[in-house]
Amino acid sequence: MSGKRKNKINRIRTFALSLVFIGFIIMYVGLYFRSYPVVMTIFMMLGFLSVIASTVVYFWIGMLSTDSVQVQCPNCNKVTKVLGRVDACMYCNEPLTLDKDLEGQPFDEKYNKKSYKKNS
Ligand SMILES: [Zn+2]
Repeated sequence: MSGKRKNKINRIRTFALSLVFIGFIIMYVGLYFRSYPVVMTIFMMLGFLSVIASTVVYFWIGMLSTDSVQVQCPNCNKVTKVLGRVDACMYCNEPLTLDKDLEGQPFDEKYNKKSYKKNS
């Protein structure tokens, strides 16, 4: 599977989840420095910030979800969310587009770039 062809919302969700894990790992490492309260506090703060950041990312996903368009995937017939002009199906990673001009074109992330937009 290529990294390019992934549903954006799923990708951000994976990122948020990994932030939580990283946060807990940092806090866990901090426990090894119990005899150095300053070092432990720094680790705890960093870990806490990472968890907070993931919460922010989750909120961001929620906002993005309201902007996304629900479409039925022609490949697996499941209802998936499309973000931007081109996105991949959440379930089977089938490339999907909302733009008729791009239908049948090879999947390319560059269509999502602002410079590529003709009209918004
Ligand atoms: Zn699909």
